[in-house]
Amino acid sequence: MNRKYRKTIIAGNWKMNKTLSETKAFAEELKPVLGKHKWCEVVLCVPFVNIPAAVRLFKDTRVAIGAENLHFEDHGAFTGEVSANMLKEVGVKYVIIGHSERREYYNETDFTVNKKVKAALEAGLHPIVCVGESLEQRELGVTSELITYQVKCALAGLDAAQARKIVIAYEPLWAIGTGKTATAEQAGEVCQTIRSIIRKEFGARVARAVTIQYGGSMNAKNAAELLAQPDVDGGLIGGAALKVPDFLQIINAANQE
Ligand code: PEP
Repeated sequence: MNRKYRKTIIAGNWKMNKTLSETKAFAEELKPVLGKHKWCEVVLCVPFVNIPAAVRLFKDTRVAIGAENLHFEDHGAFTGEVSANMLKEVGVKYVIIGHSERREYYNETDFTVNKKVKAALEAGLHPIVCVGESLEQRELGVTSELITYQVKCALAGLDAAQARKIVIAYEPLWAIGTGKTATAEQAGEVCQTIRSIIRKEFGARVARAVTIQYGGSMNAKNAAELLAQPDVDGGLIGGAALKVPDFLQIINAANQE
């Protein structure tokens, strides 16, 4: 983390978990114990149907609500899809784009990621763009090339002011939902690579300001060590964001003086 230059962001990704009543119960359990978390922004990315309730439930807190996906078009004949404007109007601040599950199961490509990033920015949302290598790619030694390609595609065509608003989540595929975490050094190294790509594309000021998260089995036990890396500015958290005590411990790790 480097709190002087950029925001630390702890974001939960609930995926397809929690009904409306479970969302309410989570909020009621979290709010009294949350504290001020003055050193980090807390975000909860929840299923579309729970967004309006989540926005209401966390209205008087500093917890921001995010979506897990969006469509890149404004409106039209796209059955089952949700646009950036729709999310903005119900109070969404962040949106996850290009999560590996979307890439794997729903044909998300680097090209659609770029279109979604532009649509989100246009509507005033902050994209959380996910990038990451598979185990095979890591073993082949192409992690850095692959991440460079993914980041460049995602940010293609943006100007510096837009690039500053992006959050990048480095999520090695082999670590997501597996209980297998990247070492702090591995996470730090790839996050540093991501920052150097941003520096080359948009300059040092933008690179210094962009929040780069690590995601992949981050939990109460390993969070502090991962967050101690200078280029790891927070976490995108799946499993451990579903239970208040686990999520709270990660938030607290990000808030240590
Ligand atoms: C994720 O889905 O973005 C994620 C990091 O999941 P988990 O923390 O469960 O590995």
